[in-house]
Amino acid sequence: MIPKTMLAARLYAPGDIRVEEVPIPEVGESEVLIKVMAAGICGSDPPRAMSTGTYSYPLTIGHEFAGEIAAIGGAVWDLAPGDRVTAIPLIPCGACVYCKAGQYNLCDHYDYIGSRTDGAFAQYMKTRAENVLRIPDGVDFETAATTDPAAVALHSIRKARIAVGDTVAVLGTGPIGLFAVQWAKIVGAVMVAAVDVYDEKLRVARELGADLCINASRDDPVEAINQVTFGKGINRVIETAGASQTQHQACLIASKLGSVVFCGISHAGLDLSEVAVDRVMRREISVVGSWNSGDVTVPHEDDWRTTLCFMGQGKLVAKPFITHRHPLSEVPKVFADIWNRHLVHGKVLFLPQQR
Ligand SMILES: [Zn+2]
Ligand SMILES: [Zn+2]
Repeated sequence: MIPKTMLAARLYAPGDIRVEEVPIPEVGESEVLIKVMAAGICGSDPPRAMSTGTYSYPLTIGHEFAGEIAAIGGAVWDLAPGDRVTAIPLIPCGACVYCKAGQYNLCDHYDYIGSRTDGAFAQYMKTRAENVLRIPDGVDFETAATTDPAAVALHSIRKARIAVGDTVAVLGTGPIGLFAVQWAKIVGAVMVAAVDVYDEKLRVARELGADLCINASRDDPVEAINQVTFGKGINRVIETAGASQTQHQACLIASKLGSVVFCGISHAGLDLSEVAVDRVMRREISVVGSWNSGDVTVPHEDDWRTTLCFMGQGKLVAKPFITHRHPLSEVPKVFADIWNRHLVHGKVLFLPQQR
């Protein structure tokens, strides 16, 4: 039985999140109502909720989630009520040249769950059936709720063009960085270095396969990497912190013909030192952007389905860095704590069925 109303965390203005009772969304033709079992805070959520805002108000935030299908509108042949699912938050227009080429993450006129349309910090949410993916047996809701950051990490790994035997550095070991460490190992990196300023996050990185962990609050990562690579640098560098300092370091540690991928969202400019500019040129380093993740119809380029397959095989895990679980009522406080830097955290989840 689906109730008439539900709890949802809605943004009324930047910094003004209210958890309130609202009607359960009604599904239209080819839409799916999902009972949300777990929903995570993305790195992009605190700035959105506390500073830059959403595209309309009030709006239910949250776009990383998993749950159970509660209802389906019309005829959707491959999904059924009770199915355990997650959904891709990006709703591409389908009409622009990038959509036509299957590059949905570059869509010119996209809609987005949790920033442009109502999202997942609610007991129920609806989206179009096309965006819904079934979770493999054995993958729990909490892990499945991290499919989005895992797919974003995979997208950056593809952009880095890692080959078997490459050395890889991951700067920033938040959830995306920790997934990037795992992906780097999966695709055949011979050595993965992880850099962060928190020992606890680096401990998890080591547990997930990082060979070398550098705490940048104690050791200069550029020097440390120079030392272990005999001055040659690292082949593939993935920056997930979104900080100008780590973006700069990334350019300094890449090897000849190496690549640097900017994956972490930055809200600042970047001044490259003379040494870094010289290095990018002399070493012929490619600096590449990576945006969101792809769900193209070509199987080997589908970040979402690939991620779910590897989770289903137990080769990609999230549990070691899910650090906080809260009921929906605590959304405003948790966002304030993260925004005011009162919380050192990995993946923070809301469990909307807990009151
Ligand atoms: Zn996200
Ligand atoms: Zn488009």
